[in-house]
Amino acid sequence: MKHRNPVETLASARHEFGEHGGVNMSVEASTTFTVMHSSTMPDIFGGKKGPEKGGCYLYGRHFNPTVYTLGKQLAALEGTEAAYCTASGMSAISATLLQLCDANDHIVSSNTVYGGTYALMHDLLPPKTGISTTLVDITDLDAVEAAITDRTRVIYTESVANPTLRVADIPRLSAIARRHGIKLVVDNTFSPLVLSPIKLGADIVVHSMTKFINGASDYIAGAICADAAFIQEMMDLHTGMLMILGPTMDPQVAFNINLRIPHLPLRMTEHSKRTQLFAERLQDLGMTVSYPGLAAHPDHELMSELHCPDYGYGGILTLDMGTVEKANELLDLLQNEYQFGYVAVSLGYFDTLMSCSGSSTSSEMTDEDKAAAAISQGLVRLSIGYTGTIEQRWNQMEEALRRVGAISRK
Ligand code: PLP
Repeated sequence: MKHRNPVETLASARHEFGEHGGVNMSVEASTTFTVMHSSTMPDIFGGKKGPEKGGCYLYGRHFNPTVYTLGKQLAALEGTEAAYCTASGMSAISATLLQLCDANDHIVSSNTVYGGTYALMHDLLPPKTGISTTLVDITDLDAVEAAITDRTRVIYTESVANPTLRVADIPRLSAIARRHGIKLVVDNTFSPLVLSPIKLGADIVVHSMTKFINGASDYIAGAICADAAFIQEMMDLHTGMLMILGPTMDPQVAFNINLRIPHLPLRMTEHSKRTQLFAERLQDLGMTVSYPGLAAHPDHELMSELHCPDYGYGGILTLDMGTVEKANELLDLLQNEYQFGYVAVSLGYFDTLMSCSGSSTSSEMTDEDKAAAAISQGLVRLSIGYTGTIEQRWNQMEEALRRVGAISRK
């Protein structure tokens, strides 16, 4: 597998001058855009003129120059022709699936996806649209293929699953999708830069930019990265899910996220470096730890083949504390006595965020589906931050583990 570091194209995509020659782009805080001649308007509405066709903008829910420029950076990051930034990760996911599926179509999805995505497929889409989903173990390629019917339009997976950290074999899933003439949609929220799903054969990448890409836990944001024709289809005035449902990103948000993109490579490198180290040390202490960078992880070899080594194996690990009580005890100590991090959902923040997945971000799942996905009661997800020194943070973790009796006293 030839690993390409996406940073080269990312840097050139950012080369956008502000209107006064500033090194940063300007914030275009307009919801509507003037045309010099009213005769131009029908051409914009008809798609004959636009941001890449004569520089004409129409209306902020359609295209805004600042949001559009952030989209170009996302396209460079994921190696797609185009990208569109949305108001949340969930709006990126729901708009994409609704664009690809008509009433009564079918999705084959990984059985281990973010709880909101699960609820969309399991609870919302069937009664509203007749779109049904078969949940499968995405690492079982025979099961994936066997679940495809003549109504299937999409194979859906997270590149690295939330929260179990199982890794999708994107090249092989892509081969299955191609064989059946359907699309492979990959949520790459857990592994920007670490994995480049489009290069590995995916058709569409979705992101919650709320997480690593923004990195500061101050904005909810999403993105859809795909070929230009698909993004264009999503902007159609009559049937485009982005244009009609309107999950528009605010230009001020786009501007601020754009300022954090240049640091993403540095941040991902540090997240991964620290998470690898913590995973190894937790393993040495005999803890039940899971991290794709550990040789013991079931997908370590696959991830080693697919990832860009410059960014390691990602910034998230899980720790199975056995019971929810033990997990909560550890998290409370880590936050309230040791200031190791925050007990909060979400991930990709500069400080460590910790949550018990089964009772939080996967709580939408039925008990049977949680069991099938191996989301146990005591499973703690840690998104490892990079504040403080490594040894200071490690001492806090080791001390808290001793206090809850997970490791023996020195
Ligand atoms: N995808 C994954 C993997 C997530 O973890 C989340 C949120 O936690 C989402 C999508 C949804 O993103 P947002 O909260 O930005 O709508």
